[in-house]
Parts: sequence; C-alpha cells; structure tokens
Amino acid sequence: MALVVQKYGGTSVGDIEKIRSVATRVIENHRQGNQMVVVLSAIAGQTDALIKLAGEIGPDPDPRELDVLISTGEQVSVALFAMAVKSMGYDARSLLGFQVAIHTDHLYGKARIHEIETERIRKELDQHRIVAVAGFQGLDDHGNITTLGRGGSDTTAVALAAALKADVCEIYTDVDGIYTTDPSVCPKARKMDTLSYDEMLEMASLGAKVLEIRSVEFAKKFEVPIHVRSTFTNERGTMVIGETKDMEKVLVSGVAYNKNEARVTIRKVPDRPGIASQIFDPIFKSGIVVDMIVQNTSEDGLTDLTFTVLKPDFYKTMRLVGDVAKGIGAERVLGDEDIAKVSIIGVGMRSHAGVAKKMFAALAGENINIMMISTSEIKISCVIEEKYTELAVRVLHKAFGLDHEEKEGQ
Ligand code: ADP
Ligand code: ASP
Ligand code: MG
Repeated sequence: MALVVQKYGGTSVGDIEKIRSVATRVIENHRQGNQMVVVLSAIAGQTDALIKLAGEIGPDPDPRELDVLISTGEQVSVALFAMAVKSMGYDARSLLGFQVAIHTDHLYGKARIHEIETERIRKELDQHRIVAVAGFQGLDDHGNITTLGRGGSDTTAVALAAALKADVCEIYTDVDGIYTTDPSVCPKARKMDTLSYDEMLEMASLGAKVLEIRSVEFAKKFEVPIHVRSTFTNERGTMVIGETKDMEKVLVSGVAYNKNEARVTIRKVPDRPGIASQIFDPIFKSGIVVDMIVQNTSEDGLTDLTFTVLKPDFYKTMRLVGDVAKGIGAERVLGDEDIAKVSIIGVGMRSHAGVAKKMFAALAGENINIMMISTSEIKISCVIEEKYTELAVRVLHKAFGLDHEEKEGQ
C-alpha cells in the first residue's frame, strides 16, 4: 500500500465535469489499495477573479483580508471534489489549511511553510477516506489565514508529500510534462523525461510556471521526486529528481521567459561608498524583491545603476527610488515596463565554454538588442524588449538544438 499525494491545478478542476473526472481517477488509485491525499487548486480563473473583486474596493487591499478572500477558491474545489467522491460511493473528507494544520510565517500573500501537522490527515486515511486538502492555504501562529503566493498549491502538495513521507508526489496539470520551453509559445518544444531539481529551480525562477519555485525548493531539500503529468491522459510525464551524471551531457536543457519584470534606471548616481545600500535599503525594507542589478563603471565620479523588479512592484519602486534619488543628487530615474527576460538553463553549462557566445549570436541574428545580462553556473539571462519575447524563445530553442525534429544533444 502506497501513500500517494496528487495535486490537480486550476484547469484540471475547471468545471464540475472535470472535478468528477478527477474524482474518478483518484478513486481508481484508491481502489488499487493506495492511501490518497489530493491537493486541489481553485477552479481556473477564480483566484484572479477574487483579486479583481478586492481591487474594486480599493487599489491597496488589506493584506490579511485579501488572504481570507483569495483562499476561498481552494475551499470551493475541495468541497466539490469530496462531494463528487461521495456521490460515487466512496468516502472522502475535505480539509482546509488550518484544519490540517499547515503552519506558516505571517507574510500575507507570500507565506512560507514552517511545519505541517500530519495527525489529522493520518486519522482520516486510517478511516479509509480519500483526503482532499485545499492548496495554497496556511495558518500563522496568531491563527490568521495566510496564502503561499501564486501557484502555491504546488508547494502545498510537495510539502505535504515530504511531511507525510509519501511514496509518490504527482502534479497533474494541463500539459503532459515539463517541456524544453513553454509549449504554448514554441510548438517545437520537447517533453523531457527527467530534469534535475537545480534545473527546475532555475526554470521556475526564470518564468516557467509549470511548477512553483518553492515547491521545487521543498522537493530538493527533502528529496521528494516530483512527477509532473497530464490530468487528461494516462501517459508518463516528467520526473524532477536529483542530478545524475547523464544530465551534464546536455549543454542547454531548457529555455524560459518572464514578462513580469520591469526595469528601473537611475542616471548619474554619485559613485561613493554606501550609495547602493542607500538606494536599495527602502526597497528591501518594503519586501520588494530585486532581480538583476547592473552598475556601469563610473565616469567623472558618476555612474548609472539599473535593476529589475516584478511588475506589480514597479510603481512602488519608482516612488521609493525617486525619493532616494533626490536625496543623493542623482540626475533622474527612468522606468521601462516593456521588457522581458529570456534565459537558457542547463547543468551542462558548468563544464562547457562558448554557451554565452552562442546565445548572443542567436539573438543578434534576429536583430534583438540585449539590454542586460546576468549569469550563474547553470543559466544565462538576457533582458530584451518585450515584443521580441516569443521570437527570442523560438530562436534560442533552435540554436541549442532543442527543436523536436532535431537530434538529441548538441
Ligand atoms: P496549473 O493550473 O495546473 O497549476 P499552470 O498554468 O500553473 O498549471 O502551469 C502549467 C502551464 O505552464 C502550462 O500550460 C504551460 O503553458 C506553462 N509552462 C511554462 N513553461 C513550461 C515548460 N517548460 N513546460 C511545461 N509547461 C510550461
Ligand atoms: N489558486 C492559486 C493561484 O491561482 C494557487 C494555485 O493555483 O496553485 O495562484
Ligand atoms: Mg500552477
């Protein structure tokens, strides 16, 4: 008897018919003798609709109440799912985050899981029930409802699999696995059989939303193999696992893009010790995450500083930076929201030279200007104009031999 954690995303539970078919699939697994813990997302579009509703009250909704609101989408799904299972003659029990309980810190909208209690779930499983856990929800130590950030049901599932020491953690979604790039942008994307945690971490942090980044962090830390697969077929999907020797043979294993960042440039900043700290201090204090940072070499004691933040944080950042810029005597602050970041990822990059050259040449071949570059051991990212995103993804995918009609390896 195996303990199986399965997570079904928003499109997988998109309507009543789909919820019924998820119930049928789960019951099948249960009938094979497995203990089933099922994590569900809100019905597709629900979380967005709730955020929009809150926006109609005012532009800056209270973070605590926003989490109370947006966590309700998942409550609807688990209730409907449990009803569907029961209507088919099997026993199920829905549990919300606080009932489990999934303990988090108090960072509303981005809460991190500290601990998961497993007693209640085990009790329900011992009663031969299918357990449906609402994804995305947590509970802070003052008894407040928190949410884990967009896409957070993936994290609920992997964290539960780790806490319960589950035998299997399956993430069911609307694609049949993890592809070399987003298949909705590049028709020649190829499904991968396996991918390392580190590569998936980079892919997720660079924009591939097929798995939420924290779910991969959890999986790596607790060595939970994740099987990403389709809700609508029975085929094997992609396994995200620890690195194996073979993986290094492939130079670039994936291409990712992110249109959700904006660029801020401060012109003619006095170049003296402590300036960077003065500029970034108020930004960090506001909980805004800064991604790429580039500072030019200084000329006549002045330099330009450019960095990127997530688009939802753009206006707040511009406001904060505007105030600091005045204080330190910088010339002006420029902002650009029409940018995108395209990245190539692969553990093979560690041991191969010339990858960057090939990337820049491929973009140049299409006349795509590179505004910023950043690298790490296993990835290279370039900021470009947003309108070239899809073209850049397809060109890079081809340049690194990932298109599906081509041979494996480069
Ligand atoms: P769910 O609602 O099931 O959580 P998501 O929409 O969050 O699903 O994630 C699945 C989507 O991720 C796919 O429909 C696909 O467009 C997108 N995606 C982006 N990059 C990739 C990739 N490399 N491989 C597979 N899917 C990707
Ligand atoms: N419903 C939440 C969202 O849309 C969490 C999730 O689906 O994973 O972000
Ligand atoms: Mg998702």
